[in-house]
Amino acid sequence: SGKNEGAGAGGTKAPPPPTGKGSKGPRLITLMPGDGIGPEISMAVLEVLDAMKAPLIFEPVDVTPVMNSNGQTTIPDAVIESMNRTKVGLKGPLMTPVGTGFRSLNLTLRQLFNLYANIRPCKSLPGVETVYGDVDVVTIRENTEGEYSGLEHTLVNGVVQSIKLITRSASMRVAEYCFKYAIEMKRKQITAVHEINSMRMSDGLFIRCMRDTAKKYEKEMTAAGVKYEEVTLKTVCLKIVEDPKRFDVLILPNLYGDIISDTCAGLIGGLGLTPSGNIGTSGAIFESVHGTAPDIAGKDLANPTALLLSTVMLLHYVDLPTYADAIEKAIVKTVKDDNVRTIDLGGNAKCSEYTQALIKNL
Ligand code: NAD
Repeated sequence: SGKNEGAGAGGTKAPPPPTGKGSKGPRLITLMPGDGIGPEISMAVLEVLDAMKAPLIFEPVDVTPVMNSNGQTTIPDAVIESMNRTKVGLKGPLMTPVGTGFRSLNLTLRQLFNLYANIRPCKSLPGVETVYGDVDVVTIRENTEGEYSGLEHTLVNGVVQSIKLITRSASMRVAEYCFKYAIEMKRKQITAVHEINSMRMSDGLFIRCMRDTAKKYEKEMTAAGVKYEEVTLKTVCLKIVEDPKRFDVLILPNLYGDIISDTCAGLIGGLGLTPSGNIGTSGAIFESVHGTAPDIAGKDLANPTALLLSTVMLLHYVDLPTYADAIEKAIVKTVKDDNVRTIDLGGNAKCSEYTQALIKNL
């Protein structure tokens, strides 16, 4: 097909903005191991990188929330200080406590570091049996506003309001990233997803920004063979489960992107396989799409592949593609050729056993 050639799994390349590149010597990375299965899968990643002698130095920071002066939970200063310095983070999942006074730490991180684009490549992993076999969809999601703007309040007793915030500036910068990505990665098609019929103003503005950007890159898109279309969310939901090959790169407002990318994860064999990158104006954080998996935490049962593929994205971001490719190839060899897989993929390997098998394949 010509797209994503050389990527053995995950389609995990993400063209970095200029700020991600160029440093000499080992690259310092902020490591946020996270909660639940986070520490186990982070350990797996560190062992793999160590076995390869990858030139990365990890600076572990504790993301356990602290209380700010307004009585709200927030990110500890050490995390902010480290990220401001390293500009690149690898993050395990964080538990989002339910209740008042708790602000999502993930949201805080995204807003704090202006991580405006969430890239989630969903590519079938050879050897993992799924309904369709060869899915290769990338969702690019606006990551700072929409229904996840965090703006919620009680109007009167029994009536709450959540604000869906769409701005031209946030929509334009994610569009810019998406169109450049599609052109550089030689993808075939960009689908902008909306519900303009019911969200006339907000989705209307989002789509206008996509159209403006499509116009701006018209020449480059024609030369690279990238097409642009607009499809309603409802239609994407229907078509993507009927025929995932119908789509290539999807660009969506925040909430729609979150939901559709989890749908895509289901199409390739589940959350254990899905990486993501949060790209910002002056840095990036890479993390698996899944959460803390409390049901299997601490039991050595987690699949570390999603965080490993997130590390592959990180390695591309810091311009270490050789290490990235080696991990991708080792994942395919371990799962497909050796049939060593964790329980979520129908196998019986523990997280640690899978990691050791993978290290032998590096
Ligand atoms: P989850 O992703 O943690 O778990 C859903 C199901 O998938 C569970 O059955 C789990 O065992 C399985 N699963 C997930 N990752 C797996 C892996 N690597 N290997 C094998 N199985 C895996 O979703 P949830 O239960 O809805 O959320 C649990 C917590 O995680 C919540 O507090 C939620 O807010 C948080 N969360 C955090 C993030 C993040 O930090 N980025 C993302 C999603 C959810």
